[in-house]
Amino acid sequence: MIPIDYTTAEICQITQGRIVQLEAEIQLRNLQIDSRKYDFNSHTLFIAIVGEHNNGHEFIPGLYARGVRAFMVSEDVPLSTIPEAAVIRVDDSVLALQALAELQRQSSDARIVAITGSSGKTVFKEWLYQLLYKRLHVLRSPKSYNSQIGVSLSLLLLEKSHDMALIEAGISQPNEMAALEKMIRPEIGIFTNIGPAHRENFASMEAKVAEKLTLFDRAKTLIYCRDHTLIHTGVAERNWVKKPKILTWSLSQKADLQIISQEQIENQTKLKARYHGETKTIDIPFASAASIENCCGLWLLLLFMEIEDSEIAERFAELIPVAMRMEQLEGINDCVLINGGYNSDINALSSALDYLIFQIKNLKYTVIFSDIVQSNIRDEKLYAKMAELLRTRRIDRFIGIGTRLKDHSALFYGLDATFYESTDAFLAAIGRDDFKDENILVQGARSFGFNRIIDFLQKKTHETVLEVDLTKMIENLNVIRSKLNPDTQIMAMIKAFGYGNGSYDIARVLEYNRVDYLAVAYADEGIALREDGIRLPILVMNPEVPSYSAMIQYRLEPQIFSFRTLELFSEALRSSGEVVAYPAHIKINTGMNRLGFDPKEMEQLGAKLSTSRELKIQSVFSHLVGSDEAKFDAFTKEQISIFTQSADVLARAFDYKIMRHILNSGGILRHSDAQMDMVRLGLALYGLTAHTANQAILKPVGSLKTTIVQIREINPGEGVGYSPKSRVKQRTKIGVISVGYADGLPRSLGNGLGHVWVSNRIVPFIGNICMDMAMVDITGVDCAEGDSVEIFGAHLSIYNLAEQLNTIPYEVITTISRRVKRVFVQD
Ligand SMILES: *Cc1c(COP(=O)(O)O)cnc(C)c1O
Repeated sequence: MIPIDYTTAEICQITQGRIVQLEAEIQLRNLQIDSRKYDFNSHTLFIAIVGEHNNGHEFIPGLYARGVRAFMVSEDVPLSTIPEAAVIRVDDSVLALQALAELQRQSSDARIVAITGSSGKTVFKEWLYQLLYKRLHVLRSPKSYNSQIGVSLSLLLLEKSHDMALIEAGISQPNEMAALEKMIRPEIGIFTNIGPAHRENFASMEAKVAEKLTLFDRAKTLIYCRDHTLIHTGVAERNWVKKPKILTWSLSQKADLQIISQEQIENQTKLKARYHGETKTIDIPFASAASIENCCGLWLLLLFMEIEDSEIAERFAELIPVAMRMEQLEGINDCVLINGGYNSDINALSSALDYLIFQIKNLKYTVIFSDIVQSNIRDEKLYAKMAELLRTRRIDRFIGIGTRLKDHSALFYGLDATFYESTDAFLAAIGRDDFKDENILVQGARSFGFNRIIDFLQKKTHETVLEVDLTKMIENLNVIRSKLNPDTQIMAMIKAFGYGNGSYDIARVLEYNRVDYLAVAYADEGIALREDGIRLPILVMNPEVPSYSAMIQYRLEPQIFSFRTLELFSEALRSSGEVVAYPAHIKINTGMNRLGFDPKEMEQLGAKLSTSRELKIQSVFSHLVGSDEAKFDAFTKEQISIFTQSADVLARAFDYKIMRHILNSGGILRHSDAQMDMVRLGLALYGLTAHTANQAILKPVGSLKTTIVQIREINPGEGVGYSPKSRVKQRTKIGVISVGYADGLPRSLGNGLGHVWVSNRIVPFIGNICMDMAMVDITGVDCAEGDSVEIFGAHLSIYNLAEQLNTIPYEVITTISRRVKRVFVQD
């Protein structure tokens, strides 16, 4: 949320907008452009922006419901749906945002430093911040906010107390820089370097340089590296509006800051330079060319700012690498494991190596890297460069995975290097003892599935966890969306603790991914979500009478299924004082014979509701009995038809539209023509379906995992666990795993009926399953105490397990006990 302090009238003046609804002035205290955020209030101005993937205007009614009362729009919006909101119309909401940003910058005294270039902008900005924050109050653009919108938001964060602002500016198209220049009007400009990014959108590299230089048309000072000839020529040939003072640095030629030597000792580099006739030195805690390039530009800027040499030296020595989404993990055998993620190109390797050699726990440095899959450099040259990077950083051991690396293994001379064709080949060839006391970087292209290598090398914690893959959940949501019309709403069912997966984290992700409604089984579940900050409307399917007043307090919407509950809830509303238009939903019984009004009660219900001041009916719905089975298709059609007729009768009693919905997961996948206004998505969201035909398109989100706590060998004739049913016939290796029936592992899986996955093998349970533990037969399996065990997940399908247990996956997943920790993973 970005603080502002304007009235609606002032906003109109600044942005050349006009009020199209509600003349009365509203005081605005903050501004928001992202409807997925939570922090809206009655002083928020929401600026609707038409983006490439989203149109902010679509979210206005939802934000209105959440209390937003001021909107800036550039398209027609149905004003009647937001009667009490101030609406400001502008031609272009991005330009309006920029006008606000420009004014903010004008009213600040901060020195503005603008940074552009093809790469290194974010690192330059972060390091400049690290170098200056002790002496100045510095604002820096958040993350990599450098677009037309990102720069606006950065400038809007300027406060009176800031001495300096570091603003990144990026362009991808011709003619974009002028707008950024107008907003930023930098005093000092930094041009980091020029490379081929977005080259395809420009007539030539020269044209791209010229476009970027527009940023500095009115700057007082411009700093760049003299060795980038394209930049140097561009600067010399430019028709400046007002020529800035030019300051250059160089590694090889005459410049304001001329580096005369660089000496590398371990990961440190000592830089010696001539600056205005004097010789100066600094030590920087990095060795990569990219880091040195950044440090030279920074050094020149600090000298220009007349900061003392001693202070410069001190600050440079303290620089720390900018985390480029590296994850640092505890590895097996005292290794430090750096998960570099899926970022695999030569620059990513270079910065990841910086990060790796920053680790000092162990003396040995190992890199596991995959083929580079997207590059326009020839393989010969690419892998020669990779080998050179590894040699200069003195990497002790390199493991290359992929056929192209393997084909170019000769380039990796001078290194302790091994190559494998694939991730599988690597995992098959190595053992746990092959890695000890090392700092290991693991990074590669997504297709190589290096998460399995991380899994192998990571030290295991002694816990039974249900791992919930939120990325897969979003993919499932999108698969479902693809089956629906764009304006069909989605109600996500997170009853039963998110079908056993854990509700809050799931609700948060669903809210972020714009589902329209949530539904829970009991009021308590809804209250917990509200207390955790979930703002979506929430339907409670089984609202129990004692919870009515709490529901009203937390604005949870009841399912009304009988005249009795209608009376009682209305009474609760009257006594709570919240008497008008409280949202509620009507459930009709069309054949399930569980909760619901019967179709013949519709006239009477309509008459009653139409005179109710307390309730506003949001939706009417029914539930299908056998939507995922062909044998029920005729019955499903009948249910849909009964529902439609009943809803028609009911609708006659109202002068407003009521939403209708009947489809659950199976219904969406098999009867999508009955999607009506909304669908209720349950099991499919978690990647499960009762119908095998759809299993391929959905991805199960949950895996149940535990660890081996002890391994022992027993002799023929011995038994395992309580009341052993049988004795072993040969010498047998037993693994004790820390999961039992109290965790939701059915006891009936014992004695060889169920299986787990360990160390690439499927092995049976042996003996009875105990309350907190179980034993598995790991004879002949190469595994160790502490190893991970999967009960279901990627290797063992939950469907098979459900089948073995003679039940459905719903039951398997919902019976996993609450004591099993839910761990959420997301790419
Ligand atoms: C559980 C439930 C759903 C969701 O069903 P799935 O088959 O899990 O998609 C929908 N509507 C109602 C009323 C439910 O109780």
